[in-house]
Amino acid sequence: MALIRIERAVKRYGDVLALDHVTLGVDRGACLALVGESGSGKTTLLRTINRLTELDGGHVTVRGRAVDAVDPVRLRRSIGYVQQDGGLIPHWTCLDNAGLVPALLGHNDPAERGRDALHAVGLDPAVFAGRYPRELSGGQRQRVAIARAMAADPDILLMDEPFGALDAITRNEAQQSFAALRESAGVTAVFVTHDLREALRVATRVAVMRAGEIVMESAAGDIVRNATGYAAELLEKSGVAQ
Ligand code: ADP
Ligand code: MG
Repeated sequence: MALIRIERAVKRYGDVLALDHVTLGVDRGACLALVGESGSGKTTLLRTINRLTELDGGHVTVRGRAVDAVDPVRLRRSIGYVQQDGGLIPHWTCLDNAGLVPALLGHNDPAERGRDALHAVGLDPAVFAGRYPRELSGGQRQRVAIARAMAADPDILLMDEPFGALDAITRNEAQQSFAALRESAGVTAVFVTHDLREALRVATRVAVMRAGEIVMESAAGDIVRNATGYAAELLEKSGVAQ
């Protein structure tokens, strides 16, 4: 059974149909990349999973339960979420940022969990725990955001263009370390990106969005073979070998 199930999801913003009857499943342990151009509905779709998008139609179930049947705050704390801009609290240290969710959940060891999470994303707590976000590079900030999302050991991780602002080399490193971390943690992930190459580096499955619809879904390894129409165009544009 899929850990995340989205059925015929519809979302309107005024005249804009941001989600047009989207159906999608994510199996436990998978990493699904949502790929598409700006405005195609990726963020809106991602946020249906932790109920930051309230649907106008359709259903979302997580772990076999409808998201609108569970307490939204508990739901959000049980799902790691890296926002498009990282979303770190600027006047909190890295350690306080990293330990936020365990603290909110009332764990008795948020600092220890925060330290473990910093360590897991490759930031030495002895060096970084007391620093503020402004004292970090872009790549380090994104690592802290990922540490924060994973510190409470969630089974689901949502990532919204987490590496979009990084330069090419840092971005490559971040993609590789994320892929390794995700696999070792066994976390199920949905990863939004407008970069198909990035999707193929980090994901096991890829769904291509256009104007609020999923126009193609495929195992990452089969996408070059399966792509037709718009998806093939995107592949060509992103320079993925045919
Ligand atoms: P993406 O993440 O793929 O760039 P979004 O999901 O952010 O796309 O947006 C999909 C569409 O919905 C766009 O046309 C966007 O302008 C619109 N939209 C998203 N959020 C809002 C909002 N809060 N209010 C009005 N329109 C929105
Ligand atoms: Mg977006």
